[in-house]
Amino acid sequence: MATKAQRISFMPVLMPNEHLLSAVCRGIKLGTVNHWRDFLNDPKSDGSEFCSGHVLRPLYASVCSQYHGTTQDVILRNHSLWHYFRSFIPGDHREIPSRENWSTIYNHKQNLHPLKLVRYRQTKQWRWCLECAQQDYDTYGFSYWHVEHQLPGISHCQHHPESQLRGACNSCGSQVTDIREKSVRLFPENRCPVCHTPFDNYESTPNHPIIDWVTEISRQLQSGSELDVQLLRKDLFEALGIDPKTKTAAGIKRTSIARKMIRDELPLDVINWFFQTEERGSFKAGDNISPLDLKLLYDTSSFVHPLSWLIISWIILSKNRTLDSYLIQ
Ligand SMILES: [Zn+2]
Ligand SMILES: [Zn+2]
Repeated sequence: MATKAQRISFMPVLMPNEHLLSAVCRGIKLGTVNHWRDFLNDPKSDGSEFCSGHVLRPLYASVCSQYHGTTQDVILRNHSLWHYFRSFIPGDHREIPSRENWSTIYNHKQNLHPLKLVRYRQTKQWRWCLECAQQDYDTYGFSYWHVEHQLPGISHCQHHPESQLRGACNSCGSQVTDIREKSVRLFPENRCPVCHTPFDNYESTPNHPIIDWVTEISRQLQSGSELDVQLLRKDLFEALGIDPKTKTAAGIKRTSIARKMIRDELPLDVINWFFQTEERGSFKAGDNISPLDLKLLYDTSSFVHPLSWLIISWIILSKNRTLDSYLIQ
């Protein structure tokens, strides 16, 4: 008897820069498949919400196998955020690991799961560029979710520098966190699916060089560059005069000075652009900012979100050197 997964006849062609999960949703809409669980031989193996930030989840492997003539490798490099995240996952990830090893990475102490990343804004939020949506609609008759718009911390579309990415409704605050639940017709309606307000006014982006820099680096990572995180860690702690492996009274003092320095470096609107508290509230001056806690970087075996790495590095190292030298092309 054919298994469920073998019964799927074809998947919609992946559009340029389309996120794999976007294609799954289109497949469901087109009637190629009734339910995303139909992709999985063992539906219990993956029941997570459709978040753009998932890395190497079982569903990806099953969906990739539906595409004949394109390898899983090519699909995941171009249609997921694998490239963006890989430098920060402990271990060597120049190549996409074989499927048997995914569970250790995907569940990496569960830290890499988007549900655990609530304090990083935009990690659970699907975003889009109105210009791209319009172009897609004009060219193909539909719009879809682009991978490059999902990079956390970026503010503008690469192809339309004037176009600020949309992510949440300014009227009711609704954001798209799970595209299998609520499909958004980005075009032609371009209205909030909850309160039906047009998505035409949106939150302005703070004007600060770190936002442009994070955008630039994130794009380079996504397009295949790697960040030498080990060297970055070494230089960071050297610059601070801290040895993360040994605890001395002087080291503890230096750590607390450094933590305060990191916390006080960025204006509040920039902090709120990158991070949020659990209740979507705003940080107040003097609050601890857990994604910027230097202690996160002590343990070489755990995953720390790229935004923590990038922002802490920028604050500590960028005054004396150019951080682009940590990128491996
Ligand atoms: Zn665009
Ligand atoms: Zn709304």
